[in-house]
Amino acid sequence: MKTVEEFFGENVFNESVMKSRLPKEIYKAVKQAIDHGKRLTPEAATVIANEMKQWAVEKGATHYTHWFQPLTGITAEKHDSFIAPQDDGRVIMNFSGKELIQGEPDASSFPSGGIRATFEARGYTAWDPTSFAFIKDGVLCIPTAFCSYTGEALDKKTPLLRSMEAINKQALRIMKVFGKDDVTSIRTTVGPEQEYFLIDKKMYDQRKDLIYTGRTLFGALPPKGQQMEDHYFGVIKPRVQAFMKELNDELWKLGILATTEHNEVAPAQHELAPIFTTTNIAADHNQLTMEIMQKVARKHDLVCLLHEKPFEGVNGSGKHNNWSISTDTGINLLDPGETPRDNAQFLTFLTAVIKAVDEYQDLLRLSVASAGNDHRLGANEAPPAIISVFLGSELTEVLESIIEDRPYGSKEKEIMKIGVHVLPRFPKDTTDRNRTSPFAFTGNKFEFRMLGSAASIAMANTVLNAAVAEILSQFADKLESASDFENALHDLIKDEITAHKRILFNGNGYDDSWVEEAEKRGLSNYRTLPDAVKHYLDPKNVELFTKHKVYSEVEMKSRHEIFLEKYCKLLNIEYETMSVMAKQDILPAVSAYSADLAANIAAVTAAGGAADFEKETLAEISSDMSKANASLKKLNSLIEDFKDVDDFEVLADRIKDEMIPAMDELRANCDKLELETAADYWPFPTYGDILFSVR
Ligand code: ADP
Ligand code: MG
Repeated sequence: MKTVEEFFGENVFNESVMKSRLPKEIYKAVKQAIDHGKRLTPEAATVIANEMKQWAVEKGATHYTHWFQPLTGITAEKHDSFIAPQDDGRVIMNFSGKELIQGEPDASSFPSGGIRATFEARGYTAWDPTSFAFIKDGVLCIPTAFCSYTGEALDKKTPLLRSMEAINKQALRIMKVFGKDDVTSIRTTVGPEQEYFLIDKKMYDQRKDLIYTGRTLFGALPPKGQQMEDHYFGVIKPRVQAFMKELNDELWKLGILATTEHNEVAPAQHELAPIFTTTNIAADHNQLTMEIMQKVARKHDLVCLLHEKPFEGVNGSGKHNNWSISTDTGINLLDPGETPRDNAQFLTFLTAVIKAVDEYQDLLRLSVASAGNDHRLGANEAPPAIISVFLGSELTEVLESIIEDRPYGSKEKEIMKIGVHVLPRFPKDTTDRNRTSPFAFTGNKFEFRMLGSAASIAMANTVLNAAVAEILSQFADKLESASDFENALHDLIKDEITAHKRILFNGNGYDDSWVEEAEKRGLSNYRTLPDAVKHYLDPKNVELFTKHKVYSEVEMKSRHEIFLEKYCKLLNIEYETMSVMAKQDILPAVSAYSADLAANIAAVTAAGGAADFEKETLAEISSDMSKANASLKKLNSLIEDFKDVDDFEVLADRIKDEMIPAMDELRANCDKLELETAADYWPFPTYGDILFSVR
């Protein structure tokens, strides 16, 4: 058997493979493309394509695909084979430089939010050489960006790459003013922790809601839920262990640094965390991780649920996006450092992040908005829908002493002066304990905890990178022209922290009092996607993205449209499914039970029995069935109504204000019936059956 060291990355056309297989000159050109964004010549592409094909064919691949992330959120691939017919009836395996660098998928069935209608029907994919090609299921996958022929990005990756370039450019300016001329490139790094549920496939197959929507639309809570908190970090069950082992092996073969695995708070919930890497690669790897989790689960007769809220009343799943900024000289810019100079540099970047989060709260909130995540944010399990920054008490104390010109701590006599005094050390543990904060400093990185489990991490990081790039550019403007750097920096940090301290909050984000307090501070609180999306096209946001060339205004408008369209379509599937399940499964089952109860009452009383249980249950059920029936009719009439609404903006609001309450009402009535109906009659597995199905 091969060891992990031997098979790690074996399905990846990575740097070491390229180094050993490509001619020296060509390898150098690829390195230039990877490290400095240099374009590859057609000649180099031809050589690389040929070697890549050779390597892939040796590993049994027969097809290739340009692998990309369209705006739907999942990845897309269209397989083409390498075969090229020869005159004598044989084939050879062929793959040209042109096929490597550019592809032309039929873009018409991917969402474009109107871009295609306004511009050009066709789109093309372009190789992103910074993310390595890999083999998956016998297909050579080439990570690409997806654009229209008029240059608009039709995917999530292109804006992410542009945002990385924006922050690179601005952070380099800051490095220059600190005299760090040796730094030539700066990248953001991300380690996304991925939560998911694993359930038995037999249970899944019996639930239309899980099959169509990925979450349960009905279901009463079982007597045992997560009250005991005995699942968190608990012993992993053998079946889950077997799944995790195979998952790790598959991810490792793809060069994905899966490292941590454990049970989560809810029964049947687990987490996987990779070691962090460059942001665009982390985004690709997270997409692959989600895909492979689902595939491997099937092999074990399990289903992996990535939905943010598969079960009502049980914790949902999120994705913690650990984010930092690093130089090519190996410095983590969010590491406080040991010397006054390093501390000053750290405080500059820290201040930039704080200001960016405050000024672009609305965009960060929107970047994690989805129909699924609306069930989590603001509920008592995920950070609230209000964005705030947690720094921990020591760091907050330092910042306060700076803005108030007072000594830090008890021992220091002197006033805290940036660039002169050494910051105290922040032991990681003291900064890492607030789990209720949506955006927490954890020692040498920030952890953005609002992301939903099913979403791509691309947009959240695009917003984060762009927002921080903008603030860094403002800081650089000031510092570059300062005659007295030390004082200018001190004043800058003092002024900016003073102006943005409203975003800092170390308290309990789950507490109701925070909602009031946040409102007093003027922080936004957009509870739902339709609320958050209203601010996407605010002038300051358009200005941010267009100035840093992350999205054009047209691209933003298309995303605005897609946000709403996707929300409406998902909800449409949910309410149609609810209607069907209530009408075809739940009410008929309860009706059958009532009929049997009625027959039993007749039989038992005829024989001289009391039939108390039967009579009381029948009365209760009949009354609750009437209620459920009434709510079903209400839901159905809304469904009819909505058929005439074709403006997604209007529809999204109506769904939020009218349909969701109707869905909640129908569900509550049906869940009550579930508890009143004999188990044998219930038409599908219950929460108890599903959540405790994997043993
Ligand atoms: P936890 O949040 O559970 O305490 P850790 O803090 O050890 O766990 O790490 C969580 C995630 O943060 C991991 O994926 C890790 O690789 C990532 N991480 C650590 N350092 C950085 C960094 N500089 N940039 C981005 N992610 C990082
Ligand atoms: Mg974490």
